[in-house]
Amino acid sequence: MYQHLFGPVPSRRLGMSLGVDLVTHKICSLDCIYCECGRTTELTVERKEYVPHDAVIKELDDYFKQNPDPDYITFSGSGEPTLSARIGDVIAWIKDKKPGVSIAVLTNGTLLCHKEVREALLPADLVMPSLDAALVSSFQKINRPCAKINLDHYIKGIADFQKAYTGKLALEILILPGVNDSREDLTALKQACDTILPDVIQLNTLDRPGAVSDISAATHEKLLEIQNFLGKDRVEIIAAAAQRRETKAYRNDMESAILETIHRRPCTPEDLASILGTHINDINKYLSVLEGEGTIESMRQDRGVFYQTCKK
Ligand code: SF4
Repeated sequence: MYQHLFGPVPSRRLGMSLGVDLVTHKICSLDCIYCECGRTTELTVERKEYVPHDAVIKELDDYFKQNPDPDYITFSGSGEPTLSARIGDVIAWIKDKKPGVSIAVLTNGTLLCHKEVREALLPADLVMPSLDAALVSSFQKINRPCAKINLDHYIKGIADFQKAYTGKLALEILILPGVNDSREDLTALKQACDTILPDVIQLNTLDRPGAVSDISAATHEKLLEIQNFLGKDRVEIIAAAAQRRETKAYRNDMESAILETIHRRPCTPEDLASILGTHINDINKYLSVLEGEGTIESMRQDRGVFYQTCKK
């Protein structure tokens, strides 16, 4: 089993996507209240080699020798990938070895204010920074940032990147009712979008329980309202979990294994990843679908969020 690669996973947006995790769980510059990976344990903006570069390259090389090419190689995982000081080197290596495979970077975008981070991501085909708030109070509330992050620099960093970038920049905004959906919030977000000029804005909401319990998902009607406010021609609403079942990489055998396991006893995503020998992000995709269609339910306990089959 690989330590730094996961999947290919049935990505909601990228088809068959091989994940690359360049930081260890859970190192991030933000501690978002909706984070599916739980609380950030190391809140930092320090860039360094969190996992050995040579080990990542060795795994990628091995993967390519033994498997068909994925649609995308996606830098994501259980922390912020641009905290890795070697992300540019890994991207360059993939582009050299597999020029036909697209590269995506899912990032919170907070480090794009640094020139070396912007330059590292330029060869990627798709960069998806997130921006959930453009007002300091809401930013603090929803993203609980590292103290060294300045919101204006964060927004300017994404805008500066977009000016030089020739790939596709999709800005992701996650809406939590009562947290970042006030008229003031949406007006500030609209201004930030006008500054950044992303190729597309992807509107999203909570799929599953986040790091805190008293938050809820926005309704589809609310997302439609916000889509209209931000500009219908540039905003798309991310498909609901149930639609993800339609992606070609959705594996029914993995779904069955998850259901059989939690039918015997409730499990956390971490338990399932360990029992089934796959990455937590892979597990999370299936849990989203199953919870979205009402096959399983979640409950919060001291050790984390547990999943069990619904008792109908
Ligand atoms: S930026 Fe991503 S990984 Fe970091 S806390 Fe937020 S949702 Fe989690």
